[in-house]
Amino acid sequence: MTDVPSRPYGTPAPPGAPTGAMCPPLIRATTWAVDDAESARALGARASHADFYARYGHPNARGFEAALAALERAAGAVSFASGMAAVHAVFGALCSAGDRVLVADRIYGGTDALCRHELPRFGIVVERFDPLDPADLDRALERAGARPPRLCFVESPINPTLRIVDLAAVAARCGARGVTVAADVTFAPPPLQRGLEAGLDLVVHSATKYLGGHSDVLAGVVAGRDHELLTRIEAFRVRTGAILAPDPAWLLQRSLATLELRVLAQSRAAAWLAHQLAADAGPGRPLAAVLHPALADHPDHQLARRALPAGAGGVLAFEVRGGLPAARRLHDALRVAARAPSLGGVETLVSLPCLSSHAHVEPAARARAGVADGLVRVAVGLEPAEQLLDDLRAAIAAAVD
Ligand code: PLP
Repeated sequence: MTDVPSRPYGTPAPPGAPTGAMCPPLIRATTWAVDDAESARALGARASHADFYARYGHPNARGFEAALAALERAAGAVSFASGMAAVHAVFGALCSAGDRVLVADRIYGGTDALCRHELPRFGIVVERFDPLDPADLDRALERAGARPPRLCFVESPINPTLRIVDLAAVAARCGARGVTVAADVTFAPPPLQRGLEAGLDLVVHSATKYLGGHSDVLAGVVAGRDHELLTRIEAFRVRTGAILAPDPAWLLQRSLATLELRVLAQSRAAAWLAHQLAADAGPGRPLAAVLHPALADHPDHQLARRALPAGAGGVLAFEVRGGLPAARRLHDALRVAARAPSLGGVETLVSLPCLSSHAHVEPAARARAGVADGLVRVAVGLEPAEQLLDDLRAAIAAAVD
């Protein structure tokens, strides 16, 4: 039996497409004509998988979903108009008023805001736990007198500290108690990490990042092992209208062809930069710390070697001495890297998490999650790594002078 290919080389044109086309057609149709009332009835009853009305599904979304499902070795995937729409759909499709959900307390600021401001309004009881402490998860799973949680949601690698959650251990603990477990794996897409193979039920990507890869697509996707869960998530998408549109879906079909090449190169460059910058860290040096799982002093270095053997991702972070004022000077002195939030694109993007991704996280929670005011996040692109190192070193020197 042949294994599932690790990446789609190009995107196969769908059956019936004009022969010889090297890429799939972009089909912007929002509706499809039928020949007769019986065909309309079959489509309306969803007895047929042919196209019907684009909010239910369309060829470009399905093409992207099939390619992503193959990469994740999933039973299927459901695409959304943004990463947050995908995260929302996991909670919205699976949880009802009164359900307890366990959510990691180290998590992307947008997911944190969803859990603090929106889910409680619908009666969903969000309980936070430390995803790096298995005993804390056990306590949350077995809280005396409480009903079993409906869902456990974590993120790995964690933005922006690059801590790694032991997804296999979380999946085993949740699985043993019948709790569905999902992870946001945006920071390490295939081939770096395959969460479903680690035992997760669902993985979520902000496809805006590495899957899109060129800073020109806003999208999200959920992939899973179980058709029943995926069917519920797809039904939620139909009812809430959050499907990915044809144009970004087509761009994602194109981008997945180079995902592996981009991600491996970015991960290698991030690890190299982290090792170089580590020479500038320590007592009396300009940097208080450099964070990347490839560094031997990273707290999750051994776990990352096991769980992400091909590389731990294209993002690194470092803490500059002098706190936020120094970080701001560094940020403004960059000449090659762009000053922008987001990650996963071909250009290097540098941001200050306490002013961007974590700006709305309460300062105490931010400190607990290790997001120092002087932290600088570098999402490595595809420029020559030596050029980036020179740029970062010059900006560090300008910041601490
Ligand atoms: N998850 C993570 C880890 C992210 O970094 C982001 C955005 O930065 C999101 C989810 C949200 O994705 P989107 O901006 O596509 O809605």
